Amino acid sequence: MNPFSSIEQIHSALYQKQISTIELVQVFLQRIEENQDLNCFITVDADGALEEAKKADKLISRNEGGVLTGIPIAHKDLFCTAGIKTSCASKMLDNFIAPYNATVVEQLREAGAISLGKTNMDEFAMGSSNETSYYGPTLNPWDTSCVPGGSSGGSAAAVGAGLVVAATGTDTGGSIRQPSSFCGVTGLKPTYGRVSRYGMVAFASSLDQAGPIAHSVTDIALLLEAMEGFDPRDSTSVKMPKTDPSRKTKSMKIGIPKEYIVDLGENMGRALEEAKKVFSGLGVEFKDIELPNSRHAIPAYYVISGAEASTNLSRYDGIRYGHRAKEITNLSELYARSRSEGFGKEVKRRIVTGTYALSVGYYDAYYVKAQKLRRLIRDDFLEAFKEVDLILSPTAPTVAFKRNLLKDDPVNMYRQDIYTIPANLSGLPAISLPAGFDGNLPIGIQLIAPHFDEASLIHAGQLFQQGTDWHQKHPSLGSRNNE
Ligand code: GLN
Repeated sequence: MNPFSSIEQIHSALYQKQISTIELVQVFLQRIEENQDLNCFITVDADGALEEAKKADKLISRNEGGVLTGIPIAHKDLFCTAGIKTSCASKMLDNFIAPYNATVVEQLREAGAISLGKTNMDEFAMGSSNETSYYGPTLNPWDTSCVPGGSSGGSAAAVGAGLVVAATGTDTGGSIRQPSSFCGVTGLKPTYGRVSRYGMVAFASSLDQAGPIAHSVTDIALLLEAMEGFDPRDSTSVKMPKTDPSRKTKSMKIGIPKEYIVDLGENMGRALEEAKKVFSGLGVEFKDIELPNSRHAIPAYYVISGAEASTNLSRYDGIRYGHRAKEITNLSELYARSRSEGFGKEVKRRIVTGTYALSVGYYDAYYVKAQKLRRLIRDDFLEAFKEVDLILSPTAPTVAFKRNLLKDDPVNMYRQDIYTIPANLSGLPAISLPAGFDGNLPIGIQLIAPHFDEASLIHAGQLFQQGTDWHQKHPSLGSRNNE
C-alpha cells in the first residue's frame, strides 16, 4: 500500500479486502520505526493501534463502519488520551497520563480512525520550529538540516513523510498552517468555536483551535466532518450547522492584501503568481484589498497569548499533577522549584512577559491596548469580506529554515507568524495548501475565509488541487540530506 494514498483510496482497499487494517497499521508502524531519526513521535502506541485494528477489521468484514474506519492517524501530544502519556513536549508533563480522551480524540476514534501515537511539538505549543520540545527537535523530512515548523511540527512532518495518513494539530498563531507549509502538506485551522477544545492542554484559550493536517483538501474535509460540532464541555464551542463540503460558490472573488505580499523571496513571489494563474484559469476574479491593522498583529498576539498562557500555566504547581521538585522544605519552594525545573526557557519567557502585561499599572498599557488592536484587525477582515469571498496570501514569509538559525532569536522566530496570526486574532478559518518549491523545500499558500465558511476554503482548495500536483509530491526518504 502506497503510504501517501488518499483516505478514499485506503478506504476502498480496506473494504475490497486488498489489505487488512492490521496489515495497514503494520505498514505505517514500520515506517515510523524506520524513520525514528525524524523524531516525529513522542509516544508510539503500537499495541493500542493493533488492538483497534482488530476491531476495525471486524467492522469491515461486516461491511460496517465509515470512510475513516481503519485510517492510521496521530494526535499532537497536547490532546488528552486516556491511558497514554500527554506531555505537551514538556518536562512538566513528562509523567502525565490523562484519565480521559479529548473530544477530538474521541470523535476521531468513534469515526473509526486509528491513532498510532502522539506527535512531537514545541513545548506547550509555543514556537514555530519544534525546537523547544523537551524531547528534542523534529526534523523536516524534505531536508533534515531544516526545521519542520511549529508548533505542530511532529504532526506535519509525520504526514509529510508518510508515517501516518493524517494527524491532528492545534493553531493558536499558525501552528497548523506554518508547519504544513514547511512539510508540503495541507492544514486547516477551523473557525474559533468550530472544533471542541475540551481535553486540549490550554495555551491561549481565546485563540487555541484544533484542526486536521493531511495530504489533500479532500482528506481534510473528511477529517473535519468527524472533528467539528458543538460540545457542551467547551464553553466557547458554537452551535452551527456542519460544514457542507459539497457546497460550491458559483463565482468566486479572492482578495490579495497588499500588506501581505511585501518582501517576498523570488520563489515565494512566483508561487503566489502561479497560484493566481491557476485560480484565474478556473474563473476566479482577484481584487487588491487592504488589511492595514495586520501590521499590529504580532505584538498584539504576543501580549494576549502570553497573558493567557501565564494564567493557564499557573495550574502547574507541582501538587496535583505534573513535575514535582524533590527535597523541598516548604510550600513556596515546592511551587518555585517545580516550575523552574519543569518549564523550558521559551515557556518561562512567555509566563514572565504575560504576567508583566497583566500586572497592575501595565494592564491598560499592554493588555487592554492589545485587545483594542485585536478588534481593529478583525474589523479590517470583516470590511474586506464585504467585497471578496476569500483572501489569499503566503502561509509563512519563508520556506523551512535551518535548525538552530532562529533558536536563540525569539523576535525573528515570532515574525514567522506574520501572515498566520491575524486569522487567529480574528477567529477566522484558514487553510495552507502546497503551492510550489524553493529548491527542495515546499512553499505554502494560505486562504482565509469568513467565520464558519470552511466550505469555501474546501471548495477553493479542491479546485486548486485539481489544477496542480504540488500536494502529490513527497520527499524521497532514502535520499534525505542527513547532514
Ligand atoms: N508560533 C506561535 C507561538 O509561538 C504560534 C504557536 C501556535 O499556534 N500554537 O506562539
